[in-house]
Amino acid sequence: MAQVAGIKIAEFGGPEKMSFTRWETPTPGEGEILVRHEAIGVNFIDTYHRTGLYAVPLPSGIGLEAAGTVEAVGPGVSSPAVGDRVAYCSGPIGAYAEAHVIKADRCVTLPDWLASETIAASMLKGLTSQYLIRQIHRCGPDDTVLFHAGAGGVGQIAVQWLKHLGSTVIATAGGAEKCAIARALGADHVIDYRSEKVAPRVREITGGKGVRVVYDGVGKDTWLESLDSLQTRGLMVSFGNASGPVTGVDVGILAAKGSLFLTRPTLVHYTATRESLQGAADDYFAALKSGAVKIADPTVYALKDAVQAHTDLQGRKTTGSLILKP
Ligand code: NDP
Repeated sequence: MAQVAGIKIAEFGGPEKMSFTRWETPTPGEGEILVRHEAIGVNFIDTYHRTGLYAVPLPSGIGLEAAGTVEAVGPGVSSPAVGDRVAYCSGPIGAYAEAHVIKADRCVTLPDWLASETIAASMLKGLTSQYLIRQIHRCGPDDTVLFHAGAGGVGQIAVQWLKHLGSTVIATAGGAEKCAIARALGADHVIDYRSEKVAPRVREITGGKGVRVVYDGVGKDTWLESLDSLQTRGLMVSFGNASGPVTGVDVGILAAKGSLFLTRPTLVHYTATRESLQGAADDYFAALKSGAVKIADPTVYALKDAVQAHTDLQGRKTTGSLILKP
């Protein structure tokens, strides 16, 4: 029986809990397809699955995102067809593998001009940017926004896209090198939040007013600075936990800080239907095709070196996207 190689976890914990192993090639069932991967995306959420912050049933595969070619289709699948190039960025978990079975309606077919490496590096991050800046709030020329971790995977896409939409962008990043990246991508102002307090700088930049929206994927370490950076009735979008989750919030803080709005969104709920997934993908692909958003060459690891990829991502050593090559 043919086998595939990939990563499994038997218990939650550090990167070393991921083991490179082999199993029988899965067969697609009703409505499913088998995708032979060309490139696999690494995302911060994968580390939450690995640590158990977002608990998954064990043992488990890991990874949500990949691009490749359809190798087999299950009963009832009319599209995509065997041989089509596709990408996906939602479950079932287990994309860190040479091939993976996925629901046909969770895949998008790739246009010829879009390289598998580029989309594996950026589909989840691009669709996240799409719903953050085009759905939760439709950012435009009237908006000044604060985007944390502007040199990271999601951050690099969002900063460029926000600039294309005409918004004024204040980005944060850790260290001079990452700040230079955020600036080169078009951020109007960059704050090195390792050495500077964010909120006072934001007040200074905005003439005391604060920003319309804060996008915060850092979580625990930036929560208060983010609230303090908002204008009255501003919108706090808390979308990640890179430094740890925000817990124990007294909602009264939203009143005290200026009748703020708060949302804690997740991509799943913005791409739940086939139409919403395809719509977000079409919008993101258009941004890529027009050059409004450019994806820097991702850092490439061999699939068997996923442990190193996670170590670097969590160690704040990376910029832009990471991919695994089978
Ligand atoms: P990134 O490439 O942005 O990596 C995370 C970055 O966060 C780091 O590079 C680092 O940048 C910054 N950071 C700040 N504090 C810490 C810390 N203590 N430990 C580690 N990193 C820290 O990752 P992604 O682009 O994959 O994801 C960005 C965020 O978006 C994550 O929180 C992720 O969970 C979230 N996300 C949420 C989604 C949703 O729908 N809710 C969907 C997709 C992603 P620096 O060194 O510059 O500080």
